[in-house]
Amino acid sequence: MNSDLDPADIACLRAEVTGEVFVPGDYGYEELTDLIVHTGHPAVIILVRSNEDVARGIAFAREHDLEISTRSGGHSNAGFSTNVGGLVLNLSHLDSIEVVDESERLVRLGAGAQWDQVTTALHPYGLAFTSGDTTSVGVGGLLIGGGIGWLARKYGLALDNLVAAEVVTADGRVLQASTEENPDIFWAIRGGGGNFGVVTSFTVVAQPVPQVFFGQISFAPEETATVLRGWAAHMDSAPEELTSTAMCWPTFGEAAPPLAIMVCYAGEDETAANLAIDPIRKLGTVVDDQVRPMPYGDALVPANDLPPGWRPRVRNRFTPALTADLVTTILTEQATLDNLYVEIRSIGGALNRVPQDATAFPHRSTQAMVMGVLLGSPEGNEPLLPAYEAFWSALAPSMSGAYSGFLSDILPADVEAVYPQQVYGRLAALKREYDPCNVFHLNVNVVPAGQD
Ligand SMILES: Cc1cc2nc3c(=O)[nH]c(=O)nc-3n(C[C@H](O)[C@H](O)[C@H](O)COP(=O)(O)OP(=O)(O)OC[C@H]3O[C@@H](n4cnc5c(N)ncnc54)[C@H](O)[C@@H]3O)c2cc1C
Repeated sequence: MNSDLDPADIACLRAEVTGEVFVPGDYGYEELTDLIVHTGHPAVIILVRSNEDVARGIAFAREHDLEISTRSGGHSNAGFSTNVGGLVLNLSHLDSIEVVDESERLVRLGAGAQWDQVTTALHPYGLAFTSGDTTSVGVGGLLIGGGIGWLARKYGLALDNLVAAEVVTADGRVLQASTEENPDIFWAIRGGGGNFGVVTSFTVVAQPVPQVFFGQISFAPEETATVLRGWAAHMDSAPEELTSTAMCWPTFGEAAPPLAIMVCYAGEDETAANLAIDPIRKLGTVVDDQVRPMPYGDALVPANDLPPGWRPRVRNRFTPALTADLVTTILTEQATLDNLYVEIRSIGGALNRVPQDATAFPHRSTQAMVMGVLLGSPEGNEPLLPAYEAFWSALAPSMSGAYSGFLSDILPADVEAVYPQQVYGRLAALKREYDPCNVFHLNVNVVPAGQD
């Protein structure tokens, strides 16, 4: 990789783009290098301000043989949105949020906006948008991968609500993508991540959700297994307004912590909300109940600062049926590692009604996503990896498919899980058409057809 760029070339780049250009040593460079969980050292960072800047940045990187990272909110668990010695297209200035048609609830989002900006902008309209659970995650990275959040069972994935996008491709073209225009790339970017270009804006349909009933219900630790099995059974038939996540915290060698069940009921009717949530409360001894009505935006929380040196290992898989036996296996296997955080997101509902081939996110027969996060530093976790793999092997017979957003160290099996064979084949053919040189490879990568 070429990290010895000629200052004259940088001066030229600065003159050609409207956004700011940073190289190592520049004032402001250092604070642009960090992601939530990774630190990079790119040769060039462009704070792009237009599609033309993006196109020029791509061309510059190709001319100088620089790897390209696209960065929206910087929450890549794998660290893809920064690099060492390459070029970063930082989209954070492309953060406009515009309600383009209130009656149709059509909203245009700049890729660099963060979800708290979106919720704040939509709230006065009585609208919300199904995103994730974290305020600072970027619109760009979440929408191209999936987007599994607090409204998922009622309104599906974030990308299920996407109706159009603007994409800058590897050759610098700006494509409008929708079911009418360039439908192939529109299919591909909905799940295919950043493999096909830099998506600079998204037009989505927002949801009429001015208020939710949201909060954490904590249960006595000794009842974790019983409550979790009951929760899984309840979520199988709960109204779709209710989305819920079980958080099984590790012991860190201490006494077991309470089981935390997060609930989010999309709606203003308190009686209906309690009808949906009360069966969970009755599953065991509630030690804390924080559920209360609030604007949807208040249900989103900032990302926690990680302790110095930590880089959690993150993997997930889907299951079509969160059975009592599977819950038992999850808890038994989690107990072999005292720093393994397990999160189970109940999904299904609207997410499963989207035809499997409608988008490049094909995991449409799923009842839950299980995420296993090995907390700590890479060095500290190294000796624990066999046990971590054993955890996933034990779950494997009941799981299939994976979500690209919750992967840190991507193995071939993870790529196969994210993109099952048929989807991968279709994506690879489109990759050959739109990015034959695999310019955009810092992602869950699809290799252009004929090149693997
Ligand atoms: C603390 C935390 C909480 C999370 N919570 C949730 C959650 O509740 N629900 C959920 O679904 N996911 C969640 N995620 C996962 C998250 O959605 C993904 O990591 C997502 O890719 C982050 O988007 P970003 O824009 O912040 O990240 P970035 O790091 O900026 O980008 C992530 C990836 O997408 C590519 N990319 C980003 N923007 C673009 C673009 N505009 N065009 C093309 N490629 C692009 C990048 O190159 C990179 O490969 C969470 C992640 C973290 C770290």
